Amino acid sequence: MAKKRDYYEVLGVDRGASADEIKKSYRKLAIKFHPDKNPDDPTAEDKFKEAAEAYSILSDENKRARYDQFGHAGVGGASGGGAGGFGGGFTMDDIFSQFGDIFGDSSPFGDIFGRQGGNGRRVRRGSDLRIKLKLNLEEVANGVEKKIKVKRHVTCNTCGGNGAKNGTSLTNCNGCNGTGQVRKVVSTMLGQMVSTTTCPTCNGDGKIISERCDSCAGEGRLLQDDLITLNIPGGVAEGMQLSMSGKGNVPARGGVAGDLLIVIEEEEDALLKRDGNNVVFDMHLSFIDAALGTSVEIPTIDGKARITIESGTQAGKILRLKGKGVKDLNGYGKGDQLVHINVWTPQQLTSDERSTLESLRHSPNFQPKPGKNEKGFFDKMKDFFH
Ligand SMILES: [Zn+2]
Ligand SMILES: [Zn+2]
Repeated sequence: MAKKRDYYEVLGVDRGASADEIKKSYRKLAIKFHPDKNPDDPTAEDKFKEAAEAYSILSDENKRARYDQFGHAGVGGASGGGAGGFGGGFTMDDIFSQFGDIFGDSSPFGDIFGRQGGNGRRVRRGSDLRIKLKLNLEEVANGVEKKIKVKRHVTCNTCGGNGAKNGTSLTNCNGCNGTGQVRKVVSTMLGQMVSTTTCPTCNGDGKIISERCDSCAGEGRLLQDDLITLNIPGGVAEGMQLSMSGKGNVPARGGVAGDLLIVIEEEEDALLKRDGNNVVFDMHLSFIDAALGTSVEIPTIDGKARITIESGTQAGKILRLKGKGVKDLNGYGKGDQLVHINVWTPQQLTSDERSTLESLRHSPNFQPKPGKNEKGFFDKMKDFFH
């Protein structure tokens, strides 16, 4: 490993520089060498880390004093200064978790550092919310826009989410020097053991609010009824889970909101049964209507429709209404409505009815003569499930 550069030299400040000058200079360097801004310069990240390391020492009174007196040896890994010791160098994670605050939301640099994901910055994420949404067949078939009220944690507008009065900046926790972790040395039979635990003073945040925001009592968020517009696509099905990112809970004291998970529940329709993207309607025709033909009104997803029954319609016939089914979730058109025809055989007859039917019993046209066009049960099944 190359010889370490002098920390004052790294930050480009005098040995007598004030804390403010050090901070300003670090900010400038951090912006300049931020890896996101220098995708083509492989040395940028090292310079960025070098500056962060220098800042971590010079921004801390005790460490700065030790460094002034003993140089790098005074603040090496053995100093127990920070998480992991600075001797081993910084990870991007360390930098953001420890010094992210100097680029807080109110700073003009927020947009650069507020980015999610890049370089593994640890971003606090709020919890997901899960709701159930009941939809009727029409809503499932065509898709629907629903406005729903969701009780969720939203960012407090008064403090902008950091929990401090009027959004003033937070100060580093003294208990842990802003690392959120404290190290305890415990003597055991096997020698000294170091254990790391969450700092009890700041609960691991590394930051302390000197004066709490009045609106949210320092939590940085408020529990509110939030009106959310859901655009449910056509073709969803029972048990399906949709997610809206960023519409879950905002975490306490800033971070990224979790997701809103919407679990679909399908209300059963009294008349129309869904079968994939098709809907099936079971129709019962009188035997006379089936023989003579007629016109009947039937329910569809979009209201009533009139269909014609040809004379001589057989029981078991299935009529297909093209495009009267459920929208395909992936946008491949729409399913059909299938009308399954049942012919109703009278179960009670008056003597007049009985004698009328008796007179027709031996009439040649009433004798079953299934032709080629009358498909049997198996052929019909094959047609459907090819
Ligand atoms: Zn607040
Ligand atoms: Zn602490």
